[in-house]
Amino acid sequence: MATTTTKEKINAYEAALHNFDAAADALELKSDTREMIKYPERVLMVSVPVRMDDGRIRRFEGYRVQHSSVRGPAKGGIRYHPNVTLDEVKALATWMTWKCAVVNIPFGGAKGGITCDPKHMSEGELERMTRRYTSAILPLIGPEQDIPAPDVYTNAQTMAWIMDTYSMTKGYPIPGVVTGKPVCLGGSLGRNEATGRGVFYTIQSACEHLHMALRGATVAVQGFGNAGSIAAQLLHEAGAKVIAVSDSTGCVYNEHGLDIPNLMHMKALTGHVEGFPEAEKISPAELLAMQCYVLIPAALESAIDGENATAVRARIVAEAANGPVTPDGDRILEAKGVFLIPDILCNAGGVTVSYFEWVQDEQHLFWEAQDVYNRLERVMRAAFRDVLKIHEESAAPMRIAANMLGIGRVAEAVQIRGIYP
Ligand code: NAD
Repeated sequence: MATTTTKEKINAYEAALHNFDAAADALELKSDTREMIKYPERVLMVSVPVRMDDGRIRRFEGYRVQHSSVRGPAKGGIRYHPNVTLDEVKALATWMTWKCAVVNIPFGGAKGGITCDPKHMSEGELERMTRRYTSAILPLIGPEQDIPAPDVYTNAQTMAWIMDTYSMTKGYPIPGVVTGKPVCLGGSLGRNEATGRGVFYTIQSACEHLHMALRGATVAVQGFGNAGSIAAQLLHEAGAKVIAVSDSTGCVYNEHGLDIPNLMHMKALTGHVEGFPEAEKISPAELLAMQCYVLIPAALESAIDGENATAVRARIVAEAANGPVTPDGDRILEAKGVFLIPDILCNAGGVTVSYFEWVQDEQHLFWEAQDVYNRLERVMRAAFRDVLKIHEESAAPMRIAANMLGIGRVAEAVQIRGIYP
């Protein structure tokens, strides 16, 4: 792909395919194998009519994409956002496949989404939309087939509605159809904070690798939702100084470090970070250009691109979000010597504990929180070591090294399975 000098035109799916090709080239993967694992296995587009509170019916567009079931049931979250498109869902499903393989859990990749604006919908409208969407994707999902989970603007409540709808249709309770459920329905302790905790473990590992102390290190976080806020909280507890935080409504900054527990409390009460006492307001561009040791993009795709990557001054970029750096952004960060913890490694803690949840549901036997954390830490640290080893041995950038690890494992599995019929 040619380097673009003006604003990049490529979308997330093109970026996913671009990174696939780079890793497949580095692995010298045969063209037959590439053809078998590169593209989604199944794509479903559904119409979701919903009776709104004012009595009118509105139709939403929904998607479920299964990218791969080579290594196990397809697995991936469901996103509610106005910008959801089929290409975005395909990209996210593709990344799920490599991500599950990077942390070596026996799942393939999937993703779903509805193009909607959940911030302007009532609880009742969201419930009706979720239940109708679940009915529409019912033929694809199931604990042995495809297991949804939360993503942007969906949560444990959304998963409870999906679990209930699916179970009522089948006639008996089937908690293993989704992960990220409330604990009282068979959810796992530690799942809610799993993504942020995994981000934290990979940042710890990166600091050890770079011989830098985490205590006192400065951190900026773009996106103060599930992934970003938990990562910020754990870094704060470990003695790092979280100096800047943003959400979709604004950005706050304090050079001495923000009081993260208080900020989380305010965000829970008001829904935004702006107006936090003892902090100044800064612009989104200033947050990304912040002089800090760790920058955590934890919002949406393409936050750092060919235009703004030159302004990044962090030593480590830890991708809590999926696809926050575009290929042009990657090239610039790489040239600047930024140490990248790529998304399919950095945020894999969520799917790892989703796997633990699914295992517990299947066994009807539940683990203690500390057990979950210990297992998660072992998985994340092993995955970091595996990716770093490829990075050091092949001189491939960290993103390509992570893709090489994930794609290599899927390729090995597909070669052994062969082609049906
Ligand atoms: P969330 O809905 O809990 O939070 C998203 C946050 O991003 C919100 O605070 C929102 O205000 C903020 N945001 C949105 N647009 C923004 C912008 N332009 N600038 C700054 N902030 C913005 O979602 P989440 O689950 O934390 O997901 C965030 C990212 O992490 C996504 O890319 C998601 O795919 C990825 N991720 C999440 C999980 C998980 O388990 N939740 C797992 C893996 C990856």
